Amino acid sequence: LDGRATVITDAGAVDVATASDGSYGPHMSDVLDNWTAFVTWARESVRPSDGTPFSRESVRAPSPEPRQVFAIGLNYAEHAEETGMSTAGQEPAVFTKFPACITGPYGDIILPRGGNTDWEVELVVIVGQRAWRVSADAAWEFVAGVSVGQDLSERRLQMAADPPQFSLAKSFPRFGPIGPWLVTPDELPDRDDLHLSCRINGELVQEGSTRNLIYSVPDIIRRLSSVVPLNPGDVIFTGTPGGVGMARSPQRWLQEGDELTSEVRGVGQLCHRFTYA
Ligand code: ZN
Repeated sequence: LDGRATVITDAGAVDVATASDGSYGPHMSDVLDNWTAFVTWARESVRPSDGTPFSRESVRAPSPEPRQVFAIGLNYAEHAEETGMSTAGQEPAVFTKFPACITGPYGDIILPRGGNTDWEVELVVIVGQRAWRVSADAAWEFVAGVSVGQDLSERRLQMAADPPQFSLAKSFPRFGPIGPWLVTPDELPDRDDLHLSCRINGELVQEGSTRNLIYSVPDIIRRLSSVVPLNPGDVIFTGTPGGVGMARSPQRWLQEGDELTSEVRGVGQLCHRFTYA
């Protein structure tokens, strides 16, 4: 909240640095760098009835300055089909959203003029400890928690390159909202079966479940960490289900004034409004 690591309880917000006498925090990066010890402290020291009310304007990204942001393209069969692209490869298509695009769960996002801005609701995974060559069986142990993400994409810039480019077209300012908070996997009834949905002005445009991921969360972590050491706070966008605007007939893009609501059931909602201002 406002740049300070906070535990969200049933009652509200507990400031980590204050409650721990400075042992943890004050920033999320401090907490993520010491995640295992922090979680043990929080379980022992913070009760559900602790905390004070907070305003939604204070809520920022749960990993505000990740060292690395990974994203998986075409990780649901339905989405691959609608884009006419193949999933026959032996490895997932991995790209980055440049970390400067990471932002919080609420507020306004500026549409690039002359562009076609599309929506992609995704489950986001936030790494909780250094991960290097980890097995799929062990992979969830390296996860701090999950969040909702929007992989906002400007399709004109994406498709103007040949072959199409992903990273730049998906990295305009605030094109990587995540949140509203980090939910530890033990809080989820089934961490491998999470329901996602996306609405524009209340109209359902995307729906899916992470049980239909072509490459599961543990498999993604195994494959990424076989090449790149993962750091605490690193963010992984796991892919989007069907229903994006580019694949519609006629195609549909986000318009000025549109309100986009992105949800993972049991995790939370992002809510953004789009503007040219
Ligand atoms: Zn995506």
